[in-house]
Amino acid sequence: MCEMCLHTPCLKGCPNAPQEQPIMQCPNCKADLFVDNTYYPEFDACEFCIDDYAQKVEDTRCDYDEDRYHYYRDKELEERFK
Ligand SMILES: [Zn+2]
Ligand SMILES: [Zn+2]
Repeated sequence: MCEMCLHTPCLKGCPNAPQEQPIMQCPNCKADLFVDNTYYPEFDACEFCIDDYAQKVEDTRCDYDEDRYHYYRDKELEERFK
């Protein structure tokens, strides 16, 4: 039994709990990706890349409607990650 959390196996969040292994590394931003992270093979990018990029697109565009924004974002992602 674990001395820290008094459970076998350890409770989630216990410092003695086995570390989750990354399933892959994003080739674009080099982030370690875990099972609950999303990877987009069509863009060679992970959710962090996309978020990051979407944020940049958003920052530079002050006037857009939702549909057009998504259209542009997809287009720009295609450009950027092709
Ligand atoms: Zn423990
Ligand atoms: Zn990434």
